[in-house]
Amino acid sequence: MIGIFGGTFDPVHFGHLRPALEVARALEMAQIRFIPCFIPPHRDEPGATAAQRLRMLRLALAGVDEFVVDERELKRGGPSYMVDTLASLRQELGDAPVALILGRDAFAGLASWHRWWAVLELAHIVVLDRPGAALPQQGPVAGVLARHGVDDPAALHRCQAGRIWLQTVTQLDISATLIRRSVNEGGGCRFLTPEPVREYIEAQGLYLSTTG
Ligand code: ATP
Repeated sequence: MIGIFGGTFDPVHFGHLRPALEVARALEMAQIRFIPCFIPPHRDEPGATAAQRLRMLRLALAGVDEFVVDERELKRGGPSYMVDTLASLRQELGDAPVALILGRDAFAGLASWHRWWAVLELAHIVVLDRPGAALPQQGPVAGVLARHGVDDPAALHRCQAGRIWLQTVTQLDISATLIRRSVNEGGGCRFLTPEPVREYIEAQGLYLSTTG
């Protein structure tokens, strides 16, 4: 099974990396592809450029064999719709099971995505728990979870798409917003992100003029 971990990664941090490692091990994933978005459809423009976000991701993932950076959304340009990304991955990966990895906050917002209902036709969804983020109790995403949720992750290996699994991971209350804010306020980001990423943020003077 291949894991797909999309995000803005502005910047990547330990709240992405440790849960990703745990989910890769728990679900015996052969690989996780980290896919930085070009233009995030649901938020303000990132504080770092696409090239800087990509560089930070490469620095963070260096030396971890099962973590791979996939540049397809940056190369495609335009708004980064996950459904387009999954369709292009599906063409490349044939019948292999593919699992889209989402934090709970991202999963809760699924129904606002472009052609969101097509996502489960192309991939499974693995939801990581995240401090402060709850699962929706009503509405379309709660309905989809009730219909597609499974009790045993082995079900994800038996078909290529269409199942939802809730994965327990170490709870790290770290967000890119917290990092941008802390750097902006002079508090830095030591021990919130890998040291090469912290050094890059400092060297490039990133996030000094952003408050978001
Ligand atoms: P921001 O604070 O700028 O909104 P973020 O820290 O949420 O950013 P993103 O790049 O937007 O990071 O997130 C990419 C994916 O990683 C999303 O699915 C998100 O839910 C998940 N994620 C981010 N941080 C954590 C965390 N601490 N624990 C679990 N999942 C996380």
